[in-house]
Amino acid sequence: MSELIPLEQVRAAVLAAIEPLPPVETSREDAHGLVLAGEITATEPVPPFANTAMDGYAVRAADTDDASADAPVRLHVVDELPAGRAPRTPVGAGQAIRIMTGAPIPEGADAIVMVENTAPDGADGVLVRRAAAEGDHIRQAGGDLTAGQAVFSPGVVLTAAHLGVLASLDIQKLRAHPRARVGVLSTGDELVAAGPLTPGKIRDSNRPMLLALVQEAGADAIDLGIAVDDEDLITRTIEHALSTCDVVLTSGGVSVGDYDYVKAALDRLGHLEWRQVAIKPAKPLAFGIIRGTPMFGLPGNPVSSLVSFELFARPAILLRMGHRARFRREVHAVAAHDFRRRRDGKLHLDRVVVEWRDGQFVATSTGAQESNVLSATAAANALALIPDGDGVTAGDQITVMLLDGPADH
Ligand code: AMP
Ligand code: MG
Repeated sequence: MSELIPLEQVRAAVLAAIEPLPPVETSREDAHGLVLAGEITATEPVPPFANTAMDGYAVRAADTDDASADAPVRLHVVDELPAGRAPRTPVGAGQAIRIMTGAPIPEGADAIVMVENTAPDGADGVLVRRAAAEGDHIRQAGGDLTAGQAVFSPGVVLTAAHLGVLASLDIQKLRAHPRARVGVLSTGDELVAAGPLTPGKIRDSNRPMLLALVQEAGADAIDLGIAVDDEDLITRTIEHALSTCDVVLTSGGVSVGDYDYVKAALDRLGHLEWRQVAIKPAKPLAFGIIRGTPMFGLPGNPVSSLVSFELFARPAILLRMGHRARFRREVHAVAAHDFRRRRDGKLHLDRVVVEWRDGQFVATSTGAQESNVLSATAAANALALIPDGDGVTAGDQITVMLLDGPADH
């Protein structure tokens, strides 16, 4: 039996071999979730002009100095100004303009009185019940961003709010690392995609699962279908995948079964490392860069496939897309019950549900931990990292890797 290699060592070797995809010009509409590769500088101030933060009246603050609830000051309303319209009337002494949130500050005005502190007075008057100070409720031009200001730097992951800022600056194109195209191939004579089963057959659960995991990672998932256990067919399918994808994932055929043709096919295409990782589940992993494309041979058992994706393929896909934070968030949680295990030289990754309870995370097993029991994994939102040894006791603190949320480090 070949040597068990610690998880961190395998992961470091995998990631060290992977290059980010070179940045390309990208339209803003396609940029959600991508990693920015160029500097973004504001070419205009945001907001572009001074405007009001409140519905109310544009006034000269000095005119309201003596205003109070008991002795309101009457101003002459000379115009009204909704958002979206250029001012046409200045505010003179003793005058006010009815103004709506977002409308430009008219010439002469230096404060806004909130409508709540006023009352209409006749057809063309307003009573101001509170003194305004200069600048009240005025959003200055460039108060958010000034022209020439550095806004976003390379490495930023473009979220919804980033896209909003880019739109406010009229930035339609930017340089970003492209979305990786990730091919997913299932292998095995026993697999059928859908429909009734004949004896010996099972349905291919890995491909739909891995395609969804790829999408969740923000990459484009390319369905490469099922390849039966035929060395030539697998070779041709993977050859095509390597030339059209940025990362290729296969599942099945990486253990030591007699009919594992994936290994033979991959060995024909280039050099892959066949590793036995010191973890349970997901011990076998094949990885290599073939013709410039990272290629992962994930284990066939569905739970192992998912765990292997989480530990190796997902960080690799994120790195390919230029992400600096690639790993799932790890937090401390309290074990809700004993997590018993035997010493076997491996880190165990138990499927658990982690809940926030009374100011701490609590981890509870989702049930059967065999590597073929995918239903228990479906109920999990985290992997509990149980180090080699006898396990942990209820109430002990354990480390859990959260399987949702953005990358953390
Ligand atoms: P292998 O690594 O090919 O020896 O497969 C290990 C186990 O995983 C076997 O029980 C296979 O039937 C199962 N398996 C392999 N690929 C898939 C798949 N795509 N969907 C569901 N089970 C699979
Ligand atoms: Mg197989």
